[in-house]
Amino acid sequence: MSVSEGVLRVHHIEPLSRANGPGRRTVIWFQGCSLGCPGCFNPQTHPFEGGKEWTTEGLFRKVRRYVPLSEGLTLSGGEPLQQGEALVSFLARVRHQTAWSVILLTGYTWEEIQALPWGNAVLDHVDVVIAGRYQPEQRLARGFIGSANKTVHFLTSRYTLSDFSQVPVAEVIIAPDGGVRVTGIDPVHRVGWQR
Ligand code: SF4
Repeated sequence: MSVSEGVLRVHHIEPLSRANGPGRRTVIWFQGCSLGCPGCFNPQTHPFEGGKEWTTEGLFRKVRRYVPLSEGLTLSGGEPLQQGEALVSFLARVRHQTAWSVILLTGYTWEEIQALPWGNAVLDHVDVVIAGRYQPEQRLARGFIGSANKTVHFLTSRYTLSDFSQVPVAEVIIAPDGGVRVTGIDPVHRVGWQR
């Protein structure tokens, strides 16, 4: 597949995280989601006009500086697959120019992903997909999967389910500018913190 230019709308980039997949990972939360899971813990990522626009090349240049420090990339949101065409272009750069693993968190089910025009092209560049709407009544107490209805698809041999059971439920990141961020899969509810 040839790499074409495109624009991606991003909510936040976390250079190094331990609560968004195995090992120390770089995380991109995409901006924009229309799937409307009840009890979504990232509602600020829903509007498509928020966040910051990046060209696929610009976003790749931004994150690749973390390659020596991070074992892979986690794509979260918002809904990454609602920016699918540009996402394919971005992931092609990641796959061709780094040895990073790629984990995709999506609200689409496995069957819905297959039906998306760019679904299989995205999957060509991903190691693990965690798929399906978040359902708070099926929230899991531990692990990285979030809610029990979600399905996990290992597309390469890079990881196994046991790697995911080791991922912390939440983390607190204190940025160099003093900003404090809590990340993880529904961290506020799962560790009982109050907003
Ligand atoms: S797909 Fe993700 S961001 Fe979108 S509503 Fe569901 S949990 Fe929230």
